[in-house]
Amino acid sequence: MPRLPPHVDDRTAGVSTTIFKNAAVLDTETCRLTRGQTVVVRGGRIARIGSDGPDDDGPGGAPSDGDGEAAVIDCGGRTLMPGLIDAHVHINTTEYTTLENVVLPNSLVAARAVGTMNAMLMRGFTTVRDMGGADTGYIRAVDEGTIVGPDLMICGKMLCQTGGHQDVRLKWDWQDPAFLRGRLGAKARLCDGVPEVRHAAREELRAGAQFIKIIANGGLAAHGTPLSHLAFSEEEIAAIVEEAGDADTYVAAHAYTDKAVERCVRLGVKSIEHCFFVSPRTADMMAEKGVTAVPTLAVVELRRNRPGATPEEADKAARLLDEIDRGLAVLKAAGVAMAYGTDLTHASVHAHQSREFLYRLRGESSADVLRSATIVGAKLVKRAHEIGNVFEGARANLLVVDGNPAEDVALLADPGRIGVIVKAGAVVKNMLPVG
Ligand SMILES: [Zn+2]
Repeated sequence: MPRLPPHVDDRTAGVSTTIFKNAAVLDTETCRLTRGQTVVVRGGRIARIGSDGPDDDGPGGAPSDGDGEAAVIDCGGRTLMPGLIDAHVHINTTEYTTLENVVLPNSLVAARAVGTMNAMLMRGFTTVRDMGGADTGYIRAVDEGTIVGPDLMICGKMLCQTGGHQDVRLKWDWQDPAFLRGRLGAKARLCDGVPEVRHAAREELRAGAQFIKIIANGGLAAHGTPLSHLAFSEEEIAAIVEEAGDADTYVAAHAYTDKAVERCVRLGVKSIEHCFFVSPRTADMMAEKGVTAVPTLAVVELRRNRPGATPEEADKAARLLDEIDRGLAVLKAAGVAMAYGTDLTHASVHAHQSREFLYRLRGESSADVLRSATIVGAKLVKRAHEIGNVFEGARANLLVVDGNPAEDVALLADPGRIGVIVKAGAVVKNMLPVG
């Protein structure tokens, strides 16, 4: 039986049941609020949702139902909603370039990740999908309470071809890329040819990867391949898609250009990261095939003016920014599901994870963006049966916020308006009175 994370809020520590009274419950599917609700949390799950009433309280505000001690939190009419989901993070990275990150001691990478994950949870992100580098040790550490952080979905190391965007070796460096597999700070491993990519996918799945991520295109980073670079042959991508499918999961691909996106979607990739140069025709195919886009605006916005950016990096960021708004509009018009993703890597920018809400508002409504960070993300991490909305039996990953994010999603970027954060039933932040 895994331990729950330690409570930050002493007033709710040790209780078996936490009751949220006078809550306006937000349905992320319909974006409707139901006011005057009581939500009972027990054993890490939502045990019951019903109207506020005298039967909900025993003497002194204690609940009349359930075993053991209970705490009652009066939401004062505030909105109770599911915890947020960031579908593109890198918990292991704190340096600007992957190469700098690769050479850090593994212990330092892990120690920094603890702080990164805790800070994500304290912004309201109760689930995150790591897009390269995190291993199963982090999942275990969260489950047993060693790390107070979000639930994780991981892909292990990304798969990248020799000379691809995540081949971090400098041009005069011919060392065997096998060293990357032993570096916690490496996001990717290298593999080439159908037998090798199959073996790499199987190794990652064996080690606990819950999906497979591939580098299918050039990238934004300062070194390496131009954006137009098409990575992996079609045979290699198809083989990886088959391996993931056989393991009952899917492939996510790093892809910017329309050609790279089109190829991946046609070959069965289900999650396209970045996706900015997508054409209307490819977007239609994505919608038809149920492919999710994860646009990751924050990484581009926060990189364009970073101190020390090389001219190559600044040029790539500028080109991308020109395309971002057009790409978002194309995806939206085609009805492609879009998840919330930030892709932040440097220690100095992780704190801006919630700014993605503001960037996405340039092309979408608050309700759209709210769904991105809840129900769309829940499907992408294959846990829509237990997260992404507020329902009986759901995992109790919950927030209580001031205002209605379905009408003003920007409020989720303001930590002062997130009064309560509940992770797996444990209250990790509480600014409201406890009865
Ligand atoms: Zn990324």
